[in-house]
Amino acid sequence: MRLVVDLNRCQGYAQCAFLAPDVFAMHGEEEALLYNPHADETQREQVLRAATACPVQAILVDDLGDVCEAPGAVREGLSGVQ
Ligand code: SF4
Repeated sequence: MRLVVDLNRCQGYAQCAFLAPDVFAMHGEEEALLYNPHADETQREQVLRAATACPVQAILVDDLGDVCEAPGAVREGLSGVQ
């Protein structure tokens, strides 16, 4: 699977690192977010939970359409996945 984090949007809340620690991690004194953009399919559920929990909807997952043009649709897609 593929995912991307919009780092302009990310506020470093670390919800993702808590919910999917194999994919997301906070790093360094500034708590910069590191993540695996090619997470394994077996981690999909964790990643979707993290994406749903992110307070600023910064985590975008591959099969949710054109995330750049339709951020509202992405949120609906994520809530429908659960
Ligand atoms: S939960 Fe969202 S805002 Fe928080 S670190 Fe992860 S991507 Fe950034």
